[in-house]
Amino acid sequence: MLMLPDFRVRQRDFLLEISRAITSQLDLGEVLRRVLHASVVMLGGQMGLIALRAPDGWFYVRAIRGLDSSLISKLNTHLHDLTTMVKEGADSDAFNEKLAEMATDIDPEVQQSVALPLVFANEPLGMMIVFRTYRSVATANDMQVLQSFADQAAIAVHNAQLYESINHERMRLEAILDQSADGVMILDANLTILRFNRALERMTGRDAKDVIGLHQDEVFEWEKLEQGDLQSAIDDGWPFTLAASDNQGTPLYVEGDLKRPDGLKISIGITYAPMFTTDGKITNIIANVRDITNFREAQEMQNTFISVVSHELKTPVAIIKGYAATLSRPDANWNPDVVRETLHVIEEEADRLTALIQDLLTASKLQAQRELQLDLGEVWLDEVVRRSVERFSTQTNKHQFVIHFPADFPSIQGDETKLRQVIDNLLSNAVKYSPNGGVIEVGGEVTDHLVKIYVSDSGVGLTKEDQGRIFERFYRVDGKLSRKTQGTGLGLYLARAIVEAHGGMIRVDSQPGQGSTFYFTLPRH
Ligand code: ADP
Repeated sequence: MLMLPDFRVRQRDFLLEISRAITSQLDLGEVLRRVLHASVVMLGGQMGLIALRAPDGWFYVRAIRGLDSSLISKLNTHLHDLTTMVKEGADSDAFNEKLAEMATDIDPEVQQSVALPLVFANEPLGMMIVFRTYRSVATANDMQVLQSFADQAAIAVHNAQLYESINHERMRLEAILDQSADGVMILDANLTILRFNRALERMTGRDAKDVIGLHQDEVFEWEKLEQGDLQSAIDDGWPFTLAASDNQGTPLYVEGDLKRPDGLKISIGITYAPMFTTDGKITNIIANVRDITNFREAQEMQNTFISVVSHELKTPVAIIKGYAATLSRPDANWNPDVVRETLHVIEEEADRLTALIQDLLTASKLQAQRELQLDLGEVWLDEVVRRSVERFSTQTNKHQFVIHFPADFPSIQGDETKLRQVIDNLLSNAVKYSPNGGVIEVGGEVTDHLVKIYVSDSGVGLTKEDQGRIFERFYRVDGKLSRKTQGTGLGLYLARAIVEAHGGMIRVDSQPGQGSTFYFTLPRH
């Protein structure tokens, strides 16, 4: 007798168990364990294995019973040989011989092995092998029962494999979504948030767990919108616009400034892409969100640059043109003093133009992240200050300059031309931004490690907010005075770059209406 006496009763139980495995289990490992258990018991065996075909076409052990896991690599080698034989068209005798060899190799006690192919839709999925320590002959009916059992097992394995691969794919997509540098959000047809990836959490300052389930408008609170938002586009018929006659829908782009819960403001651009059911209803909307704050700032900077440059260049050019035209009038006969004075103005304005162009070049170099080049030498800052004050005092009669330096003010190592530019800028600002005149104090202090230069005026002063921004490129305080005062907003930006290139720092103390004190420190050595 091949089977145990109560086999026919068991056979039904086992088949039932397998169908339960098929319907109730989607975990591949668990399906394999149940199928193997049923097979080994049903065949009255002691050991068994299930090998599944991998994408590379070879069979690998995926479940064992009654065998030690240290045997797995040996088993895989035998499976490899068996597969090669089948591929080369070996007959069943040769196959059985090889199978017997495999059996003795793993356990000399094994007398018989039964191999059952697991086939689904004519595709070999894998094979089951059961090992027995005794011999017995199978009837045609037994083999038929066994094969139908193997076929059911193949269905279970196939389902579990499908489920596993879908699960893998889902996890892969989730990982891609989470690792994406762009913000990604998935909405349902009612604009409720279903997914919110990590980049979007960072961008918006909101946690995915807090926003999932909310309507997207509760999360995207616009401070400023370029055109309409998603809801208004939907009210206008989006995504079923004329251009979308192919039923794919056109993506919608929404751009604006967003209010974050922490008060930060960011500019973002969202592309909404609709997904449809086969009968044309929206199932989901995929939103791709980009932080365009830097882009916007760059655009704004470019606009400022163009307006500053055109304004600041126009004035001296107009002066030069006017004076030169006057001098060259054929009907006039200018006396030499007027000619000299006029030429002096032309020269001054040309110098201003040169300085302005130089500032723009330096600023653009700094913008390209290149270090400021310093031409180092010994610099007596007190002397530099005195000479600058002398020049400035000839240009104003509303201001009095007072200079304080200790007698033994030391020299430092630095770039004299650039440091003079810093001092000139501070002095020029002190004059420009104290339109009612007053005292401008300039001086120096010294400690063991550093020297400090300050310029103090009694002018319009600065708010705390502006104090934080005046060292930015092109930043000018927005006010009546700035508007009628010439300037590019580059002076302090360059001053800071120069001081920092020397290893120092520049600061301001000020209160609106109370004047300002700008000071910078430089290391002595
Ligand atoms: P600008 O060419 O506009 O003077 P700066 O970079 O030198 O550029 O200064 C930036 C802005 O800082 C100025 O536009 C002005 O609004 C403000 N500012 C600079 N110095 C003073 C000062 N001494 N008192 C008040 N405001 C100042």
